[in-house]
Order: sequence, then C-alpha cells, then structure tokens
Amino acid sequence: MKTYDYNELAVAGVRELKPYTPGKPTSELEREYGVSKSIKLASNENPLGASPRAIAAIRDELDDLWLYPDANGYFLKKTLAEYHDLDPACITLGNGSNDVLVFLAQVFLSPGLEAVFSQYCFAVYPIATQMVGATPSVAPALPRDHVMPLGHDLRALYERVGPDTRLVFVANPNNPTGTWLDGARLKDFVGSLPPHVICVVDEAYTEYAESDALGDASTWLHEFPNLVVTRTFSKAYGLAGLRVGYALSNPGVADLLNRVRPAFNVNSLALTAANAAIGDHEFIERSRQLNSRGIVQLCQGLEALGAKCIPSAANFILAEFDRSGAELNEQLLRAGVIVRPVGNYGLDNYLRITIGTAAQNDRMLGALKDILAS
Ligand SMILES: *Cc1c(COP(=O)(O)O)cnc(C)c1O
Repeated sequence: MKTYDYNELAVAGVRELKPYTPGKPTSELEREYGVSKSIKLASNENPLGASPRAIAAIRDELDDLWLYPDANGYFLKKTLAEYHDLDPACITLGNGSNDVLVFLAQVFLSPGLEAVFSQYCFAVYPIATQMVGATPSVAPALPRDHVMPLGHDLRALYERVGPDTRLVFVANPNNPTGTWLDGARLKDFVGSLPPHVICVVDEAYTEYAESDALGDASTWLHEFPNLVVTRTFSKAYGLAGLRVGYALSNPGVADLLNRVRPAFNVNSLALTAANAAIGDHEFIERSRQLNSRGIVQLCQGLEALGAKCIPSAANFILAEFDRSGAELNEQLLRAGVIVRPVGNYGLDNYLRITIGTAAQNDRMLGALKDILAS
C-alpha cells in the first residue's frame, strides 16, 4: 500500500503552520508532575470565575439542550446592538473572537494578498493569515527603551501597508505585551488607511483598562467603513469555557463574515450566558478593581525580585528576567504554578503572568522567590 507524506498533500499555508500554544490546564499539570493544589495564571482567565448572572441564566437553559441553538443569535445580537448603540446587522457572532478573526482572513485574504500586524502581536493573527495562504507583513515593535516597550508602532504598521494589503490587525491592549495605544492616535491611524485596507481593532481586554486613554473603537464605526472591532466574553466576563465573542463592523462587512460563519457556531448556553453577562456591570467593576490591585501587587513583587515589568492595561503582566523564561516556567510548574513562557513570540527571557487573586499572586511570587534564590 502506498503511504503518502500527508504534509505534502496539505495546502501550502497549512504545511508551514505552527499551531497555537495554549496554557496548560491544571489537571494536565497535576497528571504529569504529580503535584496537587496547582494554580493557573497562564490564559488570562478571570480569577473571580464567570459572571454570576451568566451562570444563573444557563441553569434555565439546560432542559433545552436537545434543540439546536438559534443560528442567528437573535437575542444576543439584540442586546449587543443596544449596548453598542448599533444595528444588529453590524454584528457577527463567533465561537470566541478567535472565530471571527479567522472569518476575516477567509473573507479578505488569499495567496498574493497581505495582512499587516506588529511583532509581538497576538499569535492568532499570523495563524489566520498563513492558513489561507496569505503573506504576513510584520512591523517592528517599539523598542525596549520606549515608554510603551515592545508595543505596536503605528508608524511602522502604516509603512507596511501596500496595494496587496487587505487587513491590518491591531490589539488594544495587546497580548502578550499588555501595552496599549492612545485612542486618539489609533483613530487617526484608522482614518489614514486607504479604503481597500480593513483595520481590525481587537479589544479583547478593553473592560480591564483603567483609563479612557485607549478609547472605544466601537464608537468610531460610523466614521470608518473599513473598521472592524472584535470583543470577547472570554476575559473580563469570565466565560472562556463557553467560547463566545463577536465582531462589529459595517453591515456589508458583517454580511460577508456571516457567509463563512458556520450556522451554529455559538452554542445555546454560550448565547444565553453572554446575553446575561453583558448587563453585569457590577461583576465587571469588581473584576477590574481586583485586577488593578493585582497589577500593583505583581509588579511590586516582581520588581523586588529583580524582574522588569512591561506596562499593562490588561489582566496580565509581561515580565523580563535575567534568565530563560522556559527554564523558570519549568521550575514554576514543579512548584504547581502555571504561567506562560513566551519564547514562541521571540521573548525568550520573559514570562507572561495572568493577574490572579491576591492569594494566587502571593503564591506565584513566593514560588518565584524560592526559584530565583536557589
Ligand atoms: C484571548 C484573546 C482573544 C480572544 O479569545 P477568544 O477566547 O477566542 O475570544 C482575542 N484577542 C486577543 C488579543 C486575546 O488575547
């Protein structure tokens, strides 16, 4: 029987693809390392759990699990439309916002076309670009000694835009750096792009921002037909396990995105939970406050241990050490603490650490202190 090298059969973009590296689940760590009571500060999950309103809402939904979800997400779109003061026709629902990032690539990219994004940007942008055979065009990040070290450089991004560019991906704030862009400057950038270039502003962490400086790109949609804003329920709303996010755009773009969207991509529990969570201002406020205190606690603790923290407007800190992040990560795993090594982003001496509860932050700092002292 003839056996194929299936890699040869794969389409070119997929052949070169490196899969997304997720944070390790605590159950896997405990299985592999024989530790118990481990903590995970690796995937930017909300340490307060899920919005209580979302949990209450899905309990009422359990008897209907045998039914397909509403393929058009009528109620969630209606609530989101009111929340953003937009028409429901501007919304595309995703199985997480990861899903809508892939739809954008499927709709607007193909071999010969380019997507522009920054060095140290969210790993999904290059993956979505490559999987459809398009060309990634990477703008250098701001230098390490800049006030926004390793952050997006709007001028460098602008310089990469050419006739074959169809998408520019910008995260505000960015993951894995935590850095952010001034809203007014980002708005000017969107306005400066030629009309054939769609700017995707990924606001996955926007609920955590403590100041208005980042702006709210969803309020610029009336001005820019080439703007797409993505949001998620995975981070501040604490619904990462349910997988629900969305894109806001002009109705023409939303129509295209919805053509490639699998009909039932958002499940019924996710639709119900997200619909309930969007009004849970109290939970978001509590999450933001815990996060703000945690950022101070972690940064002070990390700097006392000799690490350097990159400024963050998100729910994690990127910290630089005088040694390999991969090795520190391995030692932390043995101490039952999961953080995120970021060597895959080209950040070898860094760790990305999610802000946990005060007790979790303390536990992480204690483990790190023991490791650095030994
Ligand atoms: C976590 C994250 C997302 C969203 O992930 P989903 O769970 O798929 O909604 C999107 N963009 C960035 C920058 C993220 O860090």
